[in-house]
Amino acid sequence: MITIDSLRNDHVSWSGYERKTTPNLDSVAADSRIFTNAFSQSNCTPFSFLSILGGVYPLATNQFHKDDHHYPMLSAHFPIFSEQMQTGGYATVGIHTNPFLTHFYGYDRGWDMFFDATGEGDIEGESKYHKRKVKIALEGFMRKHRKLYFAYLRARDQFFPIKNLHVPARPMTDRAIKAISDWKEGKFGEGKPLFLWVHYMDVHIPYVPSVEEQKRFLGKSISMRRMNRLNRPLVEHRPELLNKKMIKEVIDLYDTKIFSTDLELGRLFDVLKEEGLYDDSIIIATADHGDEFLEHGNVAHWKGNFYDELTNVPLFIKGLPKGKDDSLRALIDLPYIVADMTGVERAKGMMGVGLDEERKMVFSERSMEGGARMAVRTASKKFIWFKDDERKELYDLSSDQGEEKDLSAERTEGVEAMTELLEHHHRTVTEKAESMRIAKAMKK
Ligand SMILES: [Zn+2]
Repeated sequence: MITIDSLRNDHVSWSGYERKTTPNLDSVAADSRIFTNAFSQSNCTPFSFLSILGGVYPLATNQFHKDDHHYPMLSAHFPIFSEQMQTGGYATVGIHTNPFLTHFYGYDRGWDMFFDATGEGDIEGESKYHKRKVKIALEGFMRKHRKLYFAYLRARDQFFPIKNLHVPARPMTDRAIKAISDWKEGKFGEGKPLFLWVHYMDVHIPYVPSVEEQKRFLGKSISMRRMNRLNRPLVEHRPELLNKKMIKEVIDLYDTKIFSTDLELGRLFDVLKEEGLYDDSIIIATADHGDEFLEHGNVAHWKGNFYDELTNVPLFIKGLPKGKDDSLRALIDLPYIVADMTGVERAKGMMGVGLDEERKMVFSERSMEGGARMAVRTASKKFIWFKDDERKELYDLSSDQGEEKDLSAERTEGVEAMTELLEHHHRTVTEKAESMRIAKAMKK
């Protein structure tokens, strides 16, 4: 299973993007079932992965990290995809480089091998994690002392490139390839099939492709200063600093990172073919959420929005009958879909469904300071409830795919019904989570 952080469905060429961003993934997609209407259950990593790996809805959790007080943890009473596969007789390997998927957040369960890296050359991830904490604290201090802060910003733009702090795609892929060859040589999981998950961070902000990557994809490259100017508004949530021309350049950088990640995946697929593993492998490619490019006034994935550019994620599954599939699908279903495909027993307590069940709607949600945000999407409608600032939005996707015309003021009955539906959903989810917590506590 390959997950690529921040990858929008409409920016992969297998879903029809006019730029050829994903030639290697396209070739696997051609052997796969392509889900054009797949949706993530949230709009940022910490909430979205509760569904992808935990199989539970983001609002099911009420346990948050002690330092990052509004970032949720995968509590020990929730199941996890890796344990489902391990219990079902699989050797399991997880390779990621996202600070929100570390053991700090409860994602290290159920893996025979877990590469918990949040920074290059830092296998354990801990020192980088703490360095990041220090940096955030320092910047917070300087923000309060504005003159000092602006001097710091000027110096930074002039002399220091904005860096993507995550382990890049190449060493991540090397790790995945090493795990495959070690498994094949019987160094671990002897005789067992392999469940491998790799999560790439190269497409996440800041978008900072190397000169070579830019030349290869765009045929040109831009200066470090320009790259800083384009990325600064993204990392500091200041969309007002970007105009249309700049957004076009930002998208150039974003697409370049997609292309270079795809090149690395090409190496991984080649190894599967060389080792004679490709034909029998189930291959899943998806993303935890997308990114915004000013469609609704924001950039990246900071603002807790649930528009399609954030929630419509790419998804293909090789191992199912191939072809396009327009049915509604949710990433929370992945653990059960894979259980059914492999014959492994479904983990108890997950909240998704299998492919045998038709989906009439998908939910996306997260908590914010000041209240929850929830959305429900059907094939033709989207309703978003921003509880934290008492706002509701309703869109008719059949005539308004871009979610530009909010109909909540005129369709009050629809709004009422959708509100009730979300309340019911929230109640069901929290009750289920609570009974899982009690059941776990009673075992102690
Ligand atoms: Zn993410």
